[in-house]
Parts: sequence; C-alpha cells; structure tokens
Amino acid sequence: MEVLDLSVLLAILVALVAYISKGKLWAMDGNDTYASPYGASGFETSDLVETMKKTGKKAIVFYGSQTGTAEDYALKFAKEFQSKFKIPTMTADLADVSFENLQNIRDEIPDFKLAAFFMATYGEGEPTDNAIEFFDYLDNECDELPDLKYVCFGLGNSTYEFYNAIGKKTVEQLNSKGASLIGELGLGDDGKGTMDEDYLEWKDKLFDLIKDQLHLEEQAVKYEPSIAVVENEKLTTSSPLVSLGEPNSHYLNPKTDEEVKLLKTGPFDHTHPYLAPIQNTKELFNSETRHCIHAEFDLSNTNLKYSTGDHVAIWPSNSNEKVEKFLAILGLTEKKDKVIDLKSLDPTTHLPFPTPTTYDTVLRHYLEISGPVSRQFVKSARQFCPDSETEAKIPAIADDKDIFHKNVTEKYLNIADCLEVLSSGVKWDTIPFSFIIESVAKLQPRYYSISSSSSMEKQTVHVTAVVEQEKPSTSDHYVTGVATNLLLDIKKHQNKEESKLIDNFDLEGPRGKFHNKLPIHIRRSTFKLPSNPATPIILVGPGTGAAPFRGFIREKIKQVENGVNIGEILFFFGCRKSTEDFIYKEEWVEYAKKLDNKFKMITAFSRETEKKVYVQDKLLENAAKVVELLDKGAFFYVCGDAANMARAVQLALVKIYQEQKKVTEDIAMTMGKQLRVNNRYQEDVW
Ligand code: FAD
Repeated sequence: MEVLDLSVLLAILVALVAYISKGKLWAMDGNDTYASPYGASGFETSDLVETMKKTGKKAIVFYGSQTGTAEDYALKFAKEFQSKFKIPTMTADLADVSFENLQNIRDEIPDFKLAAFFMATYGEGEPTDNAIEFFDYLDNECDELPDLKYVCFGLGNSTYEFYNAIGKKTVEQLNSKGASLIGELGLGDDGKGTMDEDYLEWKDKLFDLIKDQLHLEEQAVKYEPSIAVVENEKLTTSSPLVSLGEPNSHYLNPKTDEEVKLLKTGPFDHTHPYLAPIQNTKELFNSETRHCIHAEFDLSNTNLKYSTGDHVAIWPSNSNEKVEKFLAILGLTEKKDKVIDLKSLDPTTHLPFPTPTTYDTVLRHYLEISGPVSRQFVKSARQFCPDSETEAKIPAIADDKDIFHKNVTEKYLNIADCLEVLSSGVKWDTIPFSFIIESVAKLQPRYYSISSSSSMEKQTVHVTAVVEQEKPSTSDHYVTGVATNLLLDIKKHQNKEESKLIDNFDLEGPRGKFHNKLPIHIRRSTFKLPSNPATPIILVGPGTGAAPFRGFIREKIKQVENGVNIGEILFFFGCRKSTEDFIYKEEWVEYAKKLDNKFKMITAFSRETEKKVYVQDKLLENAAKVVELLDKGAFFYVCGDAANMARAVQLALVKIYQEQKKVTEDIAMTMGKQLRVNNRYQEDVW
C-alpha cells in the first residue's frame, strides 16, 4: 500500500473513531472523567438499553438543554421520581445516546417504567444543539413507539413568538408514533419568571397520575446521594491536581503539547471556553448609581473567530461576599480551602465539575448561589434542619406558593439569605455538601450581543453590558447580577478606580490564571446584515439593544472604506436621558460623519419630557420614512428587551403599515409576518 493511501486510511480511521465517540475522546483526560461544565456522560456506551440493563435502571429522563437549565430540572425530576417511587432512574443528554432501542425498549427491559423529556426551546423556536439528532431520528428513522409511556416538560419564554415550540413538537411527534403521554405537557415560562412554580405545579399533579397509571407505591421522599463528597487529608490547594475553579480539566493540568494547544485552538464552546485577555474596559453611563460597561476581549492569540452579530458567552464566578455568606451559613468558613474528592455513586451520574476541588471553589466557580432560591429547594432542605424550630417553620413558608412569594421571592432572598432567615442565623452544618451540589443549579455562562464588527476588529470582541444592581422596595438589600458586577469590578481594577463596590470578586482566579482574563466562547447567531450591502437597514435598539447595531454600523464603515456602495441606515435609539445613559454618544456622531448622508439616528429619551417617549413612538413619528425604506427592500432589526419593547415595536410596525398603506389591521399584520418569513424582520431580544 502506498504511503499516501495509508495516511488517507489513517485519517479516515481517526475521523471514524472521533465520530463514534461523539467527541468524548477529546473530552476525557486521565485526571478525571469531567469534560463539560454541565458534566460529561458517565456512560461507557451510547447504547441506551445496554447502559440501562447494566445499571438496573427502569426509567430515563432525557434533556434537550442549551444553557443547562433543562438539565438541572431533569436531574431534579429524576432524583425525586427515583426517591418517591423507588424506581432506579437515570438522566441522559439527548446527544449522548442512540435512540434505536427506544422502539422496542420493553422487549429488552420488560419492567421499563417511564421516559421523561425536559425540552428547552432555543432561538426562534429551534431545538437545542443537543436535541437536533433526536428530532432527526424521530423524523427519519423512528417508525413506531407504541410501548413508550412518557412525560414531557418544556422550558420556554412567553415573550417569544414560538413559545415552548420544542416541548410541543416533542409531544406531537412522540404521540404520532404511538407513544402515550401521561398527564399534560408541562410549560415552564421564563418570560414570566415562573419556571420554578410552573415546574412544581406540573410535577405535583403528574406524580399522582403516574402513581395511578403505572401502579406505583409511593414513599416519603428522602435525599439519596448520587455523589459522595469525601474530605481529602493528603492534598492541599498547592497540589497541581486540585481544581481551584479552572473551567474544565484541560485548564487544570495540561500535560501533553496537544492539551496545551487545545487551550489556544479549541474548539471552544459551552463545554470548553477560551481564557480571553481583557484589553480595555470603560464606563458608558454618566451616573453615580447606574453602570454600563464596555469591555474588549482579545482573540489575537487564538484561532477563535466571530462574525458581526454573533453572541459571546462570558463565564462568571460568584462574588466574595456571596461565597463567604454561603460558606458561613453551612458552617464551612474554617474549612473553605479543605480539599474534597467527589465520587459518583451511580455509574450513570456524571461529576458536574473537576475533582478534587475545595468547598470555596465549588461555591465560587461552579454553582449558581446568587440568584433566587426555589420553593423546591426549601422544601427539600427541611430534612436537614439544624433544629426543630427551623423544621417547624418550613411547611408554613414553603407549602403555599403565595406565602413563599411574599416571604422569600419578594424579599429577593438567595439560598444563603433564606437559610439564614429560616434558622434565625443558626448554622446549617447539618446539610450534606453533596445535597448542595446536587440541588443547586450549575453556574451558567451569560450571553452578550457582540458590539464590535469582525471586519473592523477581527481579533477583538466588544461587549456592552448594563450592570444589574438595584434595591427593590420589598427587599432590605441590593440585588445584584453575577457577570455584570464582575465586569464592573474588573473595570474598577483595570482603571485603578477607588470606588467601593457592592460585590467584589477574586479577579486573579485559580492560580492567578484569570488575571485580566475571563473564560469566553462564541455562539453563532442568525442576526445578520443583508448579504447585499446596498440594502437599506432599519435598526431599533434602545439601551444595550444598541450593542449589535454598533457592530453593524462599524461593519458598514468598513464597507465604505473598501469602496462598497451601502444602503441607508435608519437607527432608532432610546434611553432615559441624553446626559445619563446615552451609550456611545460621541461615537455615533463620528459614525454619522464617516457614513455621510447614509446614516440617520433618531433618539427617544423617556425621562426628559413629561410624557415618556420610547423608540416605538419615534417609529410611528417616522412612519413614512420607515415604509419608504421597507418598500426599497430594507431589513428591519430589533434588539434588546423582549418583554415589552420588542412587542411594542411589532405593534408599531403593524400600525405604520395600516396608516401608510391604508390597509386593515389583518393585512398589516400579514405584511409584518411576511417580512419575518423573508428573513427581513430579525430580532435579537432577551
Ligand atoms: P444574573 O446573575 O444572571 O441575574 C439576573 C437578574 O436576577 C439580575 O437582574 C439580578 O439582579 C437578579 N437577581 C439576583 N439575585 C436575585 C435574587 N435573589 N432574587 C431575585 N432576583 C435576583 N445584556 C446586556 O447588558 N448587553 C447585551 O448585549 C446582552 N445581550 C444578550 C444577548 C442574548 C442572546 C441574551 C440571552 C442575553 C443578553 N443580555 C445582554 C443579558 C445578559 O446575558 C445577562 O442576562 C445580564 O447581563 C445579567 O447577567 P448577570 O450575571 O449580571 O445577572
């Protein structure tokens, strides 16, 4: 055989192995079995039935998850189902299993009980990346599923047009194959902020139905650990084996040249970020109390690429204040740097982060400890109360959702706040740390619309982030967001400012690796300029909704510099006051000069006049111009607040069509819809 043939064969073999392993070879290293921030699969094989047979499982909970929320709910459901009905249950990432055996699952596992699907809807009603193959299987390979009894909970956002489309599609498709849905499809609504309560309501009703229909015996729910946490007396934090918050095991201890290269070349995604240097940070607001940060991430040392309109994900860590409070209420302050080993007690349970590690690291880098506490968490924590008085208080607070709302949610308590209030400050050193790891959601990356242009700044990603901090009237403390307050702290240190912040962070990170750096990855977006530069564009972006439009406009300037003929740009921007939160105020003036008569900016300041003025009002005022550009084929873009602004803009456009084209509301709505169908109405809203 010729050398060339041999090398081709070898390449095919490598590709085949990589394909069969679905990237798992890349994901593993000798140190631990961790790869994903949400955990790598613990299965030895992707064959569902084989895994279930080997591990004695009788039920399976699948998740289609993009950011980890659906996965968190799937894990919670699996744990409670197993504990309540004593049915060995496993969870599975939809991307990690092959589905062929789903069809005849009862032939293989005669006492198979139930499949559950936790399905997030992503973007414009699309499946999450890990669910694409599953729908492909249902569409093209699956004939019938008559044996399958299942339940389904969808995770969506009612401010989006395609609310819970994937949950609905899952049920539709499975039912059409003859599978039987127990109960109703659960609909979790992130838009109304009721995901937890939606889940609890659905689950509580469902468990009664499941009990009856599957003839199951119910037991008192008792926490059964799937992970053991064992203090390690031999290692200290100075050991290179101990994770101190490295995003994954490759960052912990890269041994080979290949592993070192991986940190520079990726591929980078939600399991493996790039540790990007932060070149420059600055304040964009002119206010004592409100902040908006511009931050620039340097990509020049990596092959990580982005294109104008994409999103960047920033991987945050929790603040010192939040971590210290959590450690204190668990009675772990003295032991915060003690090394702990995590061990999976169930072959199908993956470890959610690298091990060995420390208590402080887990709370700082891997768990979502800062956000609101869920009623479910409080109910489950009852079994570990430090004293009988605390135990007696819990049902009164956690059994009724309205009382919980008034006493906990409205007061903006996080987990540590809530535990402290319930026990009147007595330490909860009775809670197993494994319970914390298994019950608290994993800390997720935060997404930002990139505000730079890949043509103008190929190797730099700009972010424009408004800092989340407020003191609601029903709360006695400031409520702060994680990533944005971290950016604020980084800006303070980079610019050597003296200011005192509510939240302060460990900016050096594990072993000093995060000094002036943060882990990031890029997520491709469909929010893109028209391919023909001469097509006019209408941009509606109040507040930080202006972020991607700054990128679009910089892209247009580059096109002009390259001698390209560009179309008109009509940009509607809004904020409270022209003197306070008018972000990039000077830049827009410069852009207008460079783009000459092609660029027009129309501003709406909501707090400068007696009657509040918003971008939708300005759209109506400029109705004739909007329609003139749309008639010339303009693309219409909306970015920013999904809950109110995006809907108000849609309604304004219908009104504009109605008035300008003298048509009925129905026809105007159809015209608006047609724009969307033709990809000429694009939204990047959150
Ligand atoms: P989080 O920690 O996620 O907190 C979220 C909210 O919960 C905050 O308001 C916080 O104050 C509140 N909170 C905290 N604790 C509690 C509690 N105990 N009880 C109740 N509430 C609590 N944002 C931008 O500024 N610019 C952008 O360009 C941008 N682009 C985006 C693009 C996409 C595709 C998406 C999905 C989002 C985008 N966002 C953007 C929003 C951004 O991702 C973050 O959601 C936002 O910055 C807040 O992140 P955070 O970590 O600071 O807040």
